[in-house]
Amino acid sequence: MKPHLFEEIIFGPVKSRRFGISLGINLLPVRSKFCNFNCIYCECGWTKKVNKIKGVLPSSKTIINNLIEKINLWSDQSYPIDSITFAGNGEPTLHPNFEEIVKDTLLTRDILLPDANVVVLTNSAMLHKSSVVDVLKKVDSCMFKIDAGTESMFKRINQPLGGITLQKTIDRIKSFPSPPIIQSMFVRGEIDDKIIDNTAPNEVAKWIEKIIEIKPEQVIIYTIDRPTAQPGLEKVTICELSNISHQLKSLGINASIAV
Ligand code: SF4
Repeated sequence: MKPHLFEEIIFGPVKSRRFGISLGINLLPVRSKFCNFNCIYCECGWTKKVNKIKGVLPSSKTIINNLIEKINLWSDQSYPIDSITFAGNGEPTLHPNFEEIVKDTLLTRDILLPDANVVVLTNSAMLHKSSVVDVLKKVDSCMFKIDAGTESMFKRINQPLGGITLQKTIDRIKSFPSPPIIQSMFVRGEIDDKIIDNTAPNEVAKWIEKIIEIKPEQVIIYTIDRPTAQPGLEKVTICELSNISHQLKSLGINASIAV
């Protein structure tokens, strides 16, 4: 299946399930993916075995110029932009100038779109860098990915590269200075004759244990919406997502479903 790769540095605006009318910033190269995870459900396709940045990463100046141009183009529209979201063809925090780019984006937002939120979607694998944590503290909303409650499910569903473990990731999210927002993907499928299913009751129970440990401000759960890297994955029903969300709510955790 053809991966859904962004072909622009600034994409959209799109109507996002989570962020309203959103302008996206893709810090990774256009038309190729770069990530330190290899999630089976990734819309950008598989992370290549030789995981090198292909193509040129946009500079802070190019990004901000493109952002200003897009905002000005959009300013005649009758509906406003609700958010500017760092997402795109991989993990945004991997850009070597991530910190500078976020600061410049915040300044641009303050001048041109003061009511819009700046949002970063991250897999949390770069939280060992204090400069990344420092700049993430400045954005309006930062969403950390936690799809699994066990190391084995983490390895199977997110396929992290290098020595990234679930517990290390959780410990780093826990040391984030403000209560974090967690986003979790639920999905199932069969890979090499083995079922992967993070909605199985034992997996959900372990995942909830980790959520309790993190003490998040909010948990947003969702399921696949577009073709995935691994073919044949199943969308989880709204009923199943509601059930998972209710389990969190019954523990006093603010949970919602993005549909
Ligand atoms: S972290 Fe995001 S970009 Fe990276 S593989 Fe997973 S879904 Fe894709």
